[in-house]
Amino acid sequence: VKVITPEEHQIDPSLVSPAAIAVVRQLRNAQYQAYIVGGAVRDLLLKQRPKDFDVATNATPEQVRSLFRGARIIGRRFQIVHVRHGRDIIEVTTFRGHHDDEDNKQSSHQSHKGLLLRDNVYGSLEDDAVRRDLTINALYYDPDTHTILDQTGGLQDIVSKEIRVIGDPRKRYREDPVRMLRVLRFAARLQFGLTQSTAEAIDHCAALLSEIPAARLFDECLKLFMSGHGAPTLALLHQHKLLAPLFPESASLLAHDAKSFSLVAAAMANTDHRVHIGKPVTPAFLLGVLLWPTVRRRFDTLCQAGEHPHEALHSAGQQIIAETIAHVAIPKRFSLPMREIWNLQLKLERMPPKKVKDIIANRRFRAAYDLLLLRDEHEQPFGRCVAFWTEQQQLFPDLVGSAPDTLAAGKPRQRRRRRTP
Ligand code: ATP
Ligand code: MG
Repeated sequence: VKVITPEEHQIDPSLVSPAAIAVVRQLRNAQYQAYIVGGAVRDLLLKQRPKDFDVATNATPEQVRSLFRGARIIGRRFQIVHVRHGRDIIEVTTFRGHHDDEDNKQSSHQSHKGLLLRDNVYGSLEDDAVRRDLTINALYYDPDTHTILDQTGGLQDIVSKEIRVIGDPRKRYREDPVRMLRVLRFAARLQFGLTQSTAEAIDHCAALLSEIPAARLFDECLKLFMSGHGAPTLALLHQHKLLAPLFPESASLLAHDAKSFSLVAAAMANTDHRVHIGKPVTPAFLLGVLLWPTVRRRFDTLCQAGEHPHEALHSAGQQIIAETIAHVAIPKRFSLPMREIWNLQLKLERMPPKKVKDIIANRRFRAAYDLLLLRDEHEQPFGRCVAFWTEQQQLFPDLVGSAPDTLAAGKPRQRRRRRTP
């Protein structure tokens, strides 16, 4: 293991979370090894403020839990302990080991294709480093000596701005295909390139993403598109053909239709901008735009088959959602608003005089209007109708989105409030 001194790495110690340092100290006082690891060390080296701090230790999850009051073990595939320190939550993970030896068959579980279903075999720091996904994510910071332990050449890759999978990329992608998405996510966010073998193996393993549970892929999609780097991420997904395993129909449409691609890319860029200036963003709008070209095409097909336009739009939305959730489990709280945003498109295009107020009062009006603007620019010009809705909003600003949420209406609240004693 290479030891990197403070003079070499130049990390600003004042950016290191006091909570993470306290957790490391407490583990060390109990005679365990403990380091700050992962994204935080990477970000510190890049002179960026880390968004969270992870700690790795040789204490088992049970041992960690017994050391910290209120600590909780979470996760199944990877057990993690959430340790609370003041307002911060520090994620503490136990060093992972190898799965290959016979003894470890019990706590790790691989499917016939090499996919890791469970990964709770413990090991040393050296084992742990090579179990991580990327070299830039496998650096261990010691807050006492301010040194960094680097076993995989992560520092060099940070300096040369390269994403490199640790070990044989094909094998690592087979173990966990989501690593391919992580590679592209970090490449987009950090503006790093991919090493040749890291990139080539993606071509080879892309189809394996279909084995990942749809719920995990949804979580991953939020990280891909909602973290402020959606536009470059989309470009990379497209380039490395990883959009297809997530959204098959969108992927093929975007690949063949430049207008659809620019519509989605523009929505991603808008969302990135909002994230950067601290405005709220919703997956319903972004996923609504991503899937809109497919809804639009399905709508055309149904209309040609003789369905009434309103019905056709309704069915198209329903079908596209049903097909999408087989791959990416979009929860109802997002898919229902997405369908409302789609269903409103026809009404916005038609400007029915008697329904104008109802339409602008709809909770999804703003989002639907934003989609209309994108469509006007990238799909086809709508002429008068965009200006019309812009005016209506200015005429009745208090009405915009003021109607009660039709989705929540009538449903009893799930959680009961407990009375404070
Ligand atoms: P972020 O800043 O987005 O949180 P991160 O690098 O901390 O980035 P996490 O998803 O929080 O990413 O994971 C923490 C660490 O766990 C990573 O840095 C990496 O070392 C390891 N890790 C996470 N997911 C995987 C995976 N699928 N395979 C191997 N190692 C992983
Ligand atoms: Mg993290």
